[in-house]
Amino acid sequence: MTKTEVVVVGAGVVGLSCAVSLAEAGHRVRVWTADDPTATASAHAAGVWKPTYQAPLASSLAWASRSLEHYRRLAVDPETGVRMVDALTVGEVPDRHALPDQLSMLPDLAVPTTLPPGFDRGLAHRAPVVDLPRHLRWMLERLAALGGTVVLRRVESLDEALAEAPVVVLAAGLGARELAGDPTVRPLFSQYVVTDNPGVHRVLVEISDARRWTSVIPHADRVHLGGVRVPGRTDATPDREEAREILHRCREAEPALQDARVLRIDTGILPARPTTRVEVEQRGNGLVVHDYGHGGSGLALCWGTAHDVVRLVAAHHTAVERPSA
Ligand SMILES: Cc1cc2nc3c(=O)[nH]c(=O)nc-3n(C[C@H](O)[C@H](O)[C@H](O)COP(=O)(O)OP(=O)(O)OC[C@H]3O[C@@H](n4cnc5c(N)ncnc54)[C@H](O)[C@@H]3O)c2cc1C
Repeated sequence: MTKTEVVVVGAGVVGLSCAVSLAEAGHRVRVWTADDPTATASAHAAGVWKPTYQAPLASSLAWASRSLEHYRRLAVDPETGVRMVDALTVGEVPDRHALPDQLSMLPDLAVPTTLPPGFDRGLAHRAPVVDLPRHLRWMLERLAALGGTVVLRRVESLDEALAEAPVVVLAAGLGARELAGDPTVRPLFSQYVVTDNPGVHRVLVEISDARRWTSVIPHADRVHLGGVRVPGRTDATPDREEAREILHRCREAEPALQDARVLRIDTGILPARPTTRVEVEQRGNGLVVHDYGHGGSGLALCWGTAHDVVRLVAAHHTAVERPSA
């Protein structure tokens, strides 16, 4: 495979997973980001790999499965911020004998002995939980060790990046709307409540299409409680009434949270798109690989989409450099 210079635009989980994967494949990688990686939407994620029905479905299944395997490998090293944890998926869960692929890939599937109040269907399993501050730090250190760099720089156009590298990966989340001229990228407000951890060890994820849902994602020192999403909203100001309702729902489902102390409210504006876009675009002599539109499933998909980005760079950049090959 031809090694090349790559500029990755974006330092959320999507951009950094691409940057690390491309650097591991031997490419020289620079990341340009408008925001410090600790101030991205990704930095506020609750941190669970969860089943996703994001379109395109067949690709999402492959991306989610590959990401899951990647997290399972990373979980052997605490420095990565990834752990495998007992989990319960509840809500719109079909009969055990008719599970869709999104659910049958869950590790160590079992019938739960009990279900939380308010839920009558569920699956017990293991799930990766990712401590975002630590995982982002690990990705930045891994990238640096492979010779990659991260620069705070807002990009005004893809041509600006193509002037400095023959391959550009567009992983700018919501910023891809302007940079790719793609009006199908839409803002999606998301909010969680973060409490201290009074002794919660098991993940609870409700599968639901609804605007509000119940999820409990425990980390060593805190618990992220979900959640609410509002399509089209661009104002990231925390909604205190929604926060009270989230707390109420999660305390009903997980009584151990009764005395938990609220530490903060996490919000973010996510890059929603009818389908996640992983695609090559030839621009003059340059190559743009689009990798954006992960909506509320960035963690669940990012290592899988990064894998495809590496594959696309290998296939298309070689073709550009050696047309007769
Ligand atoms: C409260 C909350 C909880 C969540 N929990 C989970 C969870 O448990 N599991 C899960 O899978 N997902 C979760 N998500 C969703 C997840 O965070 C997103 O899917 C993910 O962050 C999208 O990542 P991204 O890298 O595409 O975008 P972002 O994290 O938004 O990163 C975009 C990057 O592009 C850069 N950029 C944008 N425009 C430009 C420009 N013009 N020039 C240069 N750089 C630019 C930004 O500076 C940034 O670095 C949660 C989100 C929130 C808000």
